[in-house]
Amino acid sequence: MQKLQMVDLKRQYEKIKPEVDKAIQSVIDSTAFIGGPQVNQLAAELATYVGVKHVIPCANGTDALQIALMALGLEPGDEVITPSFTYMATVEVVALLKLTPVFVDVYPDSFTMDIDCLKKAITPRTKAIIPVHLYGQSADMEPLLAIAAQHGIPVVEDNAQAIGGTYTFSDGRTVRTGSMGQISCTSFFPSKNLGCYGDGGAMFTNDDALAERLRMIANHGQKTRYYHEMVGCNSRLDAMQAAVLRVKLPHLDSYCDARRTAADFYDKAFANNPKITTPFRAANARHVFHQYTLKLNGVNRDEVNQKLADRDIPSMIYYPVPCHKQEMLKAYNTANADLPVTNMLQDCVISLPMHTELTNEELTYIANNLLEIVG
Ligand SMILES: *Cc1c(COP(=O)(O)O)cnc(C)c1O
Repeated sequence: MQKLQMVDLKRQYEKIKPEVDKAIQSVIDSTAFIGGPQVNQLAAELATYVGVKHVIPCANGTDALQIALMALGLEPGDEVITPSFTYMATVEVVALLKLTPVFVDVYPDSFTMDIDCLKKAITPRTKAIIPVHLYGQSADMEPLLAIAAQHGIPVVEDNAQAIGGTYTFSDGRTVRTGSMGQISCTSFFPSKNLGCYGDGGAMFTNDDALAERLRMIANHGQKTRYYHEMVGCNSRLDAMQAAVLRVKLPHLDSYCDARRTAADFYDKAFANNPKITTPFRAANARHVFHQYTLKLNGVNRDEVNQKLADRDIPSMIYYPVPCHKQEMLKAYNTANADLPVTNMLQDCVISLPMHTELTNEELTYIANNLLEIVG
C-alpha cells in the first residue's frame, strides 16, 4: 500500500494525464495566458453545470467572497452574518472590508448554519448572510432564503467545499449548491472537489447587474479598458488553470460519487461504535464529502489524531480554533460569543482521508486502525 494522504492528487492526475497535458500544452502554444477562450469556455460550462446565468472566474475563493461583498455595495459597519465554524477566509473578507461579522451557531449534526440562531441575529444593520456548505453538504437553504427575502437581505453562498452537491426544496425542485444565493462563490484550490493545479475561484449569479459589477470589480473597476468607474482589484483565473478545470469538470460528478462511495464505506465500518458519530446526511441535500468528518466522544480527540499519525494515517482537525476565537478578530470582541455548538465541535471533530482514489484496501486499513485506537 502506498503512503496514505488526506488528498491524493497524483493518482487522480495519472488517470487524466493525457487530456490534462494536452490542454496545458495547447495554452502554451496559444500564448493566451490570461483570459481568452479557455477562461470564457470554462465560465460557460460552469454556468451550465451549476445552473446559473453568469459565472465570473477569479483568482481564488477568498477573492470571490471579497468581490461578492464589494459588489453588494456594503458600507463599513454593516453587519454580515456567518457561521464561526468555517474556514477563516469566509470571515476574513468581512473584516478586510471593515464590515462587522456577526456569528451564528451551527447545527450539531449537519455543521451548517442554525436557522433559529440566524433569525435571532438579524438586525436593521444586517446587510448580507453567508451560509457555508461545510464539508460538502448544503446549508438548509429553503428557510434561510425565506428569512433573507423577508428582510431584503442578500445571500452569498460560500460553496468552496460543496461544488457538485445539490439541495432539494419542499416542492421537489432539486438545484445545485451555488445556484441559490444572489451570489455564490467557489474555490478551485487543488484539494477542493473541483480543483485546478494552482489557485482559482469563481463567482456565480443569475442577476445581470450584479454580474456586471462582479466582472468590473475583479478587473480594476473597469468595463472599458483604462476607464475605471469604481475601486476594484485584480483577480483573474489564468488560462492554464481554466484548461485543467475544463478537463476535470466532466469528471466532477463521478469524482463526487467516488467520495460518496468512500463515505459509505466509512459509515458502515463505524456504524456500531458508540464513541464515533458518522456524518449526518440531510434528506434534502446531496452531500459531496469534501471532508469526511467524525465526531468523537468519550475519547481524547487529539490523542486519536496523534495515534493515527503514529500508524502513518493522516487525519486533520477542521478547524481547531473557530473564527470567533481567532486573534485576527480581537477588535470585534467575539471570543466569548454564545456559540455552544461551535465550541463543542472544536474539540470533537476529526476528518479522515477523503479523495477520489481511495481503495477498499486503504479504507479498510484506516477504519480498522481507528476502531482499534478508539476501542
Ligand atoms: C477553501 C475555502 C475558501 C477559500 O478559497 P481559496 O481559494 O483558498 O481562497 C473559502 N471558504 C471555504 C469554506 C473554503 O473551504
